Amino acid sequence: MRPLPELTAESSAFWTGGERGDLMIAFCDACARAIHPPQVVCPTCLSRSVTARAVAGTGTVYTCTVNHQPWVPDMQVPFAIAVVDVDGAPGIRVTAPVTGGDPAAVRIGQRMAIRFEPADGVWLPLWHRLGHDPDGEGA
Ligand SMILES: [Zn+2]
Repeated sequence: MRPLPELTAESSAFWTGGERGDLMIAFCDACARAIHPPQVVCPTCLSRSVTARAVAGTGTVYTCTVNHQPWVPDMQVPFAIAVVDVDGAPGIRVTAPVTGGDPAAVRIGQRMAIRFEPADGVWLPLWHRLGHDPDGEGA
C-alpha cells in the first residue's frame, strides 16, 4: 500500500501506461528533451508540444537505499528503493521500490527492468533486477 499519485493532464500517461506495461516518459516535440516528472511546458525551450512516449522500461541504478520504516499500516519492510537512469530517456531518473530478492543486494550500476502494480486506477512502477525473478525471495 503506497500513497497514490494525483492524476493531472500531464502526468496521467506516466501513471496509466503500466496498464499496457509501458513506461511512459514525456518528450518535448520541439527539442526532443525528456521531461520527468511530466510537465505541460518544456523547461528547456518552453514549447507546449510535449508528448508521452513508451521507452524500453529498463535502466541502470543511479542510487539506492533500503527502507525499514513502515510508513503506512501493513507496509512490508524492509524493501529497497532505487533511483534508476532510464534507458532511452537521457537525464531521466525514475524512483520506485525494488521487488524480488534481498533488499540489501541492490547496488549502484545494476541493470533494472520495470513492471507495474495496479492500484485504484493508477499503475505504480516497481523495479526488479534484470535476470532475477521479481516475485522470488532469494537474492
Ligand atoms: Zn523543448
